[in-house]
Amino acid sequence: MQEFATIIIDFDSTLVQVESLEDLAALALADADDRTERIQAIADLTNQAMTGTMGFDEALARRIPLLGARRDHLSALVEVLKQKYTPSLLRNEAWFRANSERLYVVSGGFREFIVPVMEPLGFKQEHIFANTFLFDDEGNITGADPTNFLAQDDGKTALLRHLDLPRPRLIIGDGFSDYQLRASGECEQFYALTENIHRAEVVDRADRILTSFDELLM
Ligand SMILES: [Mg+2]
Repeated sequence: MQEFATIIIDFDSTLVQVESLEDLAALALADADDRTERIQAIADLTNQAMTGTMGFDEALARRIPLLGARRDHLSALVEVLKQKYTPSLLRNEAWFRANSERLYVVSGGFREFIVPVMEPLGFKQEHIFANTFLFDDEGNITGADPTNFLAQDDGKTALLRHLDLPRPRLIIGDGFSDYQLRASGECEQFYALTENIHRAEVVDRADRILTSFDELLM
């Protein structure tokens, strides 16, 4: 690992075991009659984006109205996600803390919950890049800030180009948008983490497969 000046890590299904928008929907739709159908529709859209069959921007725009979420659901979501850290992340917490200078989180998820979930493990707030929610006057989540690079298709590539972080760079993730950083040349290597989910379309394109973060440190 010493050879990488910058290590970029995805959030959903990589640093946590789940797709956080599905957990947010589960909280927000707790009393909705069509809860099961809406959560399934969100999961289907996530899968299409993560396997590269739908643009990330389109999948995000279609998922947010299905969430039915408000600002006051976010603190509950943070508590849920803190119970769902990827096990090998917790096992290797000391290493992640010691390497925080070169570690970055780049996610199509949202800063409003990723920062409070990752800061307790030593991740630096200014090294966390993600979308930000838009709210209406009643606190309903109405969308994602469209000016953010990460709200766009292949937004991770656009962000990395903008940040110009030290090379060589490694991207670790589970999804197609993570692989795109390797395909675009913004990262020299892509390691697919399969501890939480194994997406064949993504794993087939990886330079290396990590069944857990333990293998990264060996
Ligand atoms: Mg992911």
